[in-house]
Amino acid sequence: MAKRFPSELRFDLVSKDWVIIATGRARKPTTFQKNHKLHLELKQKECPFDTLKEQEETTSAFLNGERISIPRNTYLKDWTTVSILNKYPAFSHGTSIKTRHVGPYEVMDGVGHHEVIVTRDHKKDIPDFSIEKVRELIEVYHQRFLELMQDKLVNYITIFKNKGATAGASVAHPHSQMLAIPVTDPDLQRSMRGSLQYQQERNRCVHCAMLNWDREEKTRIIFENKGFVAVCPFASRVAFEIRIYPTKHSAYFEKIDDKQKDLFAQALQVTLKKLKKALKDPDYNYFIHTSPVDGENHDHYHWHLEILPKTSTWAGFELGTGIEISTIEPEKAAEFLRKN
Ligand SMILES: [Zn+2]
Ligand SMILES: [Zn+2]
Repeated sequence: MAKRFPSELRFDLVSKDWVIIATGRARKPTTFQKNHKLHLELKQKECPFDTLKEQEETTSAFLNGERISIPRNTYLKDWTTVSILNKYPAFSHGTSIKTRHVGPYEVMDGVGHHEVIVTRDHKKDIPDFSIEKVRELIEVYHQRFLELMQDKLVNYITIFKNKGATAGASVAHPHSQMLAIPVTDPDLQRSMRGSLQYQQERNRCVHCAMLNWDREEKTRIIFENKGFVAVCPFASRVAFEIRIYPTKHSAYFEKIDDKQKDLFAQALQVTLKKLKKALKDPDYNYFIHTSPVDGENHDHYHWHLEILPKTSTWAGFELGTGIEISTIEPEKAAEFLRKN
C-alpha cells in the first residue's frame, strides 16, 4: 500500500504556485464555521450608506432594474443600487499621469477611479436578495465597467467585495468597490502570464482545460447552470476557496451579455447562499479577475470571480513563504458546500 502522507503539494497551473493541502489531519468541514468570538462586529451609530445625503457624488443610480438619472442640487431619494465616489479614495481622477524618480525608485501618481457600489437594504446581502436585485448589482458592475473603460488612462479595472470586519470591510452596510487604475496588479499579471504560456505551449486555454476536467470529474463542482460553474479549485490557496467561471471561454468580463448576466447572478447567489449556510455566515472577499483594458489582445485569458472565505489567519509559515496550508481538501469542501 502506498504510504499516506499528511499533506500533498498541488501545483497551480496558472499562477505557478505550489499550495499545500492537508489531507491527513481530517478536519471536519463544520470546524471551519464562523467563530463569533474571533470576529469583530462592525458597529456604527449612523450608517453612511442608508441615505445618500452625506455622499457627494453619485456616478450611477438604479431603481428596480432601471437606470435612472441623477438629480442635480438635490439628494437622490428613490434608488435600489447606486455607485458613488469613494469618500476616502485610493485613486482619484486625473488628466495625465506623471512618473518621477526618487533616488533609485520610481513613483507614479495615483490617477484613476475608486467607486463604492451600494445596495439599498442595510441588513440584506446577496444571499437574501431577490434574484432581480442580484441581477441589478451585476448590471451596475457591468455598466460602470464599460464607462470607466472609456478613460484612456485606465488600463485595469477591478471589482471586489469585502464582507465583514476580518475581510477588511469598515462599513457593515453591504457594498462592493471598483478600482480603475493605470497599471495591472501583480497578482493578475502573473496569472495572465501563466495562462498565455499554457496557450502558447498547448494551444488551448488553461482555465478551459481545468474546467473540462473538473466538470467531468465532478468532485470539486459546487454548482453549475447553463452559463456558469462554481468550483473549489484543485490547487485551492485557502480552505473553501471558490471560483465562478463562465463555461464558454471568454477573456473579457465587459463582453458579458444579458442572458449571461442572469446566469451569473444565479450562480453567484446560489454559491454565496451555500457558503453562508455551510460556514454560518463567514467573512469573505470576492473579486473579479478579468483581462486588462489596455487595448492589447488577451484572448488567452478566462475571466472569473474568486471567493476567499476568512477561515484562518496567516501565521509565520504563511507570511514567510507565501504558501498557505489549506486545511481541508477542496474535494471535501465542495462536497460540503453542495450539500448545503
Ligand atoms: Zn446602512
Ligand atoms: Zn477558457
